Formats: sequence, structure tokens, C-alpha cells
Amino acid sequence: MPQTRNDQRRNRLTQPWTAVAIASNQPNGFGPKPYAVELQIFGSQIFDPIKKETGAHLLPFLFHLCRVNAVIAGNAETDAQERIPTENAPGLTFGRRGTTLSRARSQEGSGLNRTLVDARILQEFRAVVGDSGLITSQEELKTYECDGLTNFRVVPQAVLLPRSTEQIQGIVRVCHRERVPFVARGSGTGLSGGALPVKDGVVISLARMNRILEIDFANALVVVEPGVINQEVTGRVAPQGFFYAPDPSSQSICSIGGNVAENSGGAHCLKYGFTTTHVLGLEVVLPDGSLAHLGNKTLDAPGYDLSGVFVGSEGTLGIATKITLRIVKRPDCIQTLLAAFNSTSEAGAAVSGIIAAGMLPAAIEMMDNLAIQAAEAAVHANYPNCGALLLVELDGPTAEVEVLMCQVDEICRKCGAGEIRVAQTEAERVLVWKGRKAAFAAVGRISPNYIVQDGVIPRTALPRVMTEIARLSAEAGIRVANVFHAGDGNLHPLVLYDRRIEGQEHAAEVLANRILELCIEAGGSITGEHGVGEEKKMMMSKMYAEPDLETMQRVRCAFDPEQLSNPTKVFPRPRLCGEQPGDYQPHPVELAGIAERF
Ligand SMILES: Cc1cc2nc3c(=O)[nH]c(=O)nc-3n(C[C@H](O)[C@H](O)[C@H](O)COP(=O)(O)OP(=O)(O)OC[C@H]3O[C@@H](n4cnc5c(N)ncnc54)[C@H](O)[C@@H]3O)c2cc1C
Repeated sequence: MPQTRNDQRRNRLTQPWTAVAIASNQPNGFGPKPYAVELQIFGSQIFDPIKKETGAHLLPFLFHLCRVNAVIAGNAETDAQERIPTENAPGLTFGRRGTTLSRARSQEGSGLNRTLVDARILQEFRAVVGDSGLITSQEELKTYECDGLTNFRVVPQAVLLPRSTEQIQGIVRVCHRERVPFVARGSGTGLSGGALPVKDGVVISLARMNRILEIDFANALVVVEPGVINQEVTGRVAPQGFFYAPDPSSQSICSIGGNVAENSGGAHCLKYGFTTTHVLGLEVVLPDGSLAHLGNKTLDAPGYDLSGVFVGSEGTLGIATKITLRIVKRPDCIQTLLAAFNSTSEAGAAVSGIIAAGMLPAAIEMMDNLAIQAAEAAVHANYPNCGALLLVELDGPTAEVEVLMCQVDEICRKCGAGEIRVAQTEAERVLVWKGRKAAFAAVGRISPNYIVQDGVIPRTALPRVMTEIARLSAEAGIRVANVFHAGDGNLHPLVLYDRRIEGQEHAAEVLANRILELCIEAGGSITGEHGVGEEKKMMMSKMYAEPDLETMQRVRCAFDPEQLSNPTKVFPRPRLCGEQPGDYQPHPVELAGIAERF
């Protein structure tokens, strides 16, 4: 039974939480005179028990509290500062040291004054997409409650399945007028919670927009709808000797729209570049329903690189409805070498050696022993059982590849490689890659639960960071399998745990976050290709200073001043487009280390 508006309100009102928060009468929150105020929060309703009032003038607090920005601090009557246990406010994510994902799992709405999606609005959606394009039953909606990151779940109000750009415009216009937040969804394989629905909002699935519209070999480009599956592009152009280079391991199921939104990478992006290198132009429905064309079919259009801004924006700037992609001529010769080392440090030294020799392989991938075991169990790729396995693929003219492959062999031996093999047939090469590409899923064979982490470090830091990950893993008593794009320093530590063992999930989350901090300390980044989404938004303020976040927020507001397009993702806390820009003033409790601002 769908909930009525009154049911929803009643449910919220039965869950009062009391919290003490720092607030301010300044529109940007932490103004020059922050003060403590005690508030009771009823879902998105808010009540001040001291002044005994509710109302719109409390919206700044709503903005701070209901959208993951409660900073716990003091007491309004005594002016004392104290810590309030997180358990006292279960629905909020407190910006306090030690808070981890499992505590933050309960999702609040976007916190702004949103319209509930009622029968009238559903009727308007139905008029745009027809009965078959609208999902409202609770059972079916549950299919859309998460993406590949399954520990965050929110059931949307409705799911829409448009078939054309015009239908998307029609849906988004209704959302804009009624202030209904929306989340675009491709295949839902994202690993950072990017396609996680927003509680008061709708999901716009691009699954039915799956046509390849144009193939132009003379100009080496294709035009596709967003729901086209990555591998289908190569499938369609391969007979003419072309391929689409970005190859996420999920390429047989993920959509081009999702790839664009995440700026997805893959094993061959070391040489060929990430998705952004291959997107020439975009047709985009902006969050007010209008249509924009960013970039075009030629390279280097004059003016701002707006398609560059859109690629990697994780669905926060609108919905891509047509995408012009570059395709690449398949090289004459491709050879894949497999080298077995005793340790990831030795294999890491070989990676640095290959790059230092001036080579740019098509791919350099690494797997440690746990990952090798998992992949072997899943696809029997005939990998040697060793401490670390390096896969090096070279492509280009045959004579060049043969000479360079000898050099790669020599470097690997010098760095301690025992067994070295070069795939002798296309079938052998395909099997080598099958093992690597199946590795994430294969880890399910050796652990009931795991977190797929995604961080970047400078290549030269590989041996040091791998040693430190091993130390942290031993210290926490949690196993970590490593499988990653070694050539561009993009790590994928897989943190293995068993949810049934009390405390292990929490320990795994702490370890996964610690690994990301390690990446930042090494001069790297919190994500290489999976995006920030819901999962890593709290880490953004560890990576960026306040002015950087402010600048990114201004870009977002230029596209989406109402914050309707995937509004709760990427940024560590909500901001309103009307916020006054200005220097951030840390509160004394932050300086004292009691509270932390995300
Ligand atoms: C086993 C496995 C292996 C993976 N390997 C890789 C890998 O090697 N490299 C890699 O980069 N990723 C990898 N991923 C992650 C994931 O497949 C990619 O992020 C992929 O690009 C997501 O595509 P999707 O169609 O599933 O998008 P979704 O998960 O549906 O959405 C992802 C994001 O894109 C937005 N979005 C979707 N469509 C549009 C659109 N048309 N316009 C605007 N925004 C849109 C959504 O709102 C969301 O924020 C892997 C995932 C799995 C499960």
C-alpha cells in the first residue's frame, strides 16, 4: 500500500530526536557569532523547545541538521559545551570524529522544503511517459533502492522510464515546478551510491533509451543514447576495426550515461584516457527541463569546456540524453604479459621501472595473492599462485610491440619476477583478462561481505602504501585483497569482513576510511573512477579546503540553483545557492577537536 501524505507525516512525528547543535543567524551557517541551540527534530519538521516554536525562520537549522550537518556542541542555557552521544539522534550523521558509514546509513531527505510526490504529480508523470513508464508499487520500487553499493538503501517515491529526450524534459519540468528532486539511473552498477534515490524524490531510469543513433567511421565517432551498454559500442564498431577504449570491468552491464556521469575508467585508460577523453559532445536536459548542447562533433570547440565540466559530475548537473563518443582504430598487434612476483612491493617496483623506461603500455594491472585466489576460483584463469601478479599489455605496430615486450620482460626479471608468460593466442589473452575483470565479484567466494575501495596514489608511492595497507590490515584483523590499475596508481583495496560477526562491519569501514586517508597523505585522491556519490561525500572535506568546495558548489548552482538533480550527493553537506560566500570561520569546538565539520 503506498503511503499517504498523512501517513508519512505521522511516521516522521513519531520519531523525535533531540540534539544540540551549533547554529547561527547567518545564512551561511557558521557566521561570526555562532551560538548553541537545543532543537527537537521530527524528520524534516523542527521544533525549538526553549522558544517553543516551529516555523520557517528555523530553516537555517533545518538546513544544518536534517542534511547531515549537525555539529554537536553546547547547551543554550548554560553555554557549556558537551558531547551528545550519536545514539541519541539515530537519523542524523554527526560530523564527529569516529562516525562511520554504518552509523550514517539512515538517510534523511534533502532537507529543503520539498513537495511530496502525490497523486496529482503522479498523474502528470503518467501523462508524459504513459502507464508503462511509471512505477509506483512498493515491491517494484524496491528494485531501485540501491546501486552496486548495497549498504545504502532508500526507496524512491516513483520511478520513471522515459523513451525520449522530450519525455525526460517533460518529467524534469514537472519536478522543477513542484520542487521534486530526481536521480538519473543507468544500469545501477555504481559503487559509490551515486544512483541511490533521494527519499522525497523520483528516479529517472535511462534503461529504455538504449539506441546507437549514428556511426561515423570517417570521423571516428558514434552518437548514442545514455542507456546504451558500454560493450555494445565496441561490439557495433569492431567489424570495421574500431573500438571504444574506456573499458570498466563492468563494461558488459554498465551504461554510457553512467560512464559519463562517473568519468569511468578501466584497464586500458592508462594509454587511451578516461571517459572524458572520449566524449566529444553531449545533449543534456538541465534541471529546469531546458535542453543544452555541450561540446560538438569536433575536437577543441572554442569557449568553456562545458562537456568536460559535465563529465564526472555524478548526475548533479542534469541528465545526459545523447552522447557523441570518439572511437579508436584497433592497433595491429596486442600482446599481454603475465609476471609473477613474491610481493606487491616487487611488482610495484617493476611498474615504476616500465614507466621510467619511457613506455606507455595499454594497461598495467596488479593483483595480490588474495585477489589471485578469488579470481582463480571463479574463472580458472590459470594464474600462478604468487604474492603479486602483474599484467602488462602492449599494443601498436608489431615490430614496436615485440621490441618493447623484451624490455618489459627484462625489467620484470630485474625486479624479482619468477614466472613470466606472454599469452600465445587470443583465447589465452581473453582468459587472462577475464580473471582480472571478474576479480571484484570473485572476492564474494572468499568473503561473505566486502567493501570495494577506490583511491589513487602517485605510482612511486605504490610500495610504501601497499606495505602500510598490509600493516593496517594486520592491526585491524581484517583481510584486504588488492586488485588495481597499477599503471595509473588507482588502487582498489577490497576490505573483507563478515557482517554476522559483531563489530566487524564497523571495523571494516574504519579500515576502508583509513586507507583513503592514506591515499590523501601520499598525495593522491579519494576516488579514481567510482565517484564520490553518497559513500565518500564526508571525505571531500578531508581532500579539499573550504574555498575549493565553495567554488565547486558555485558551478553546481550555475546548472542547478534549486538543487533538484541528485541533490544529496558528492558534497559533504548541503549548501543553499543563496548562501553568502565568504571565508570559513572554524568554531572553537572544532579547533578543540570535539566536533568536526564535514
Ligand atoms: C563488478 C563491477 C566492476 C566495476 N568496475 C569498474 C571499473 O573498472 N571502472 C569504473 O570506472 N567503474 C567500475 N565499476 C563501477 C560502475 O560500473 C561505473 O561507475 C559505471 O560507470 C556506472 O554505470 P551505470 O550505468 O551502472 O550507472 P549508475 O550506477 O546507474 O549511475 C551512476 C551515476 O551516474 C548518474 N547517471 C546515470 N545516467 C546518467 C545520465 N544519463 N545523465 C546524468 N547522470 C547519469 C547517476 O545519477 C549516478 O550518479 C564497477 C562496478 C561493478 C559492479
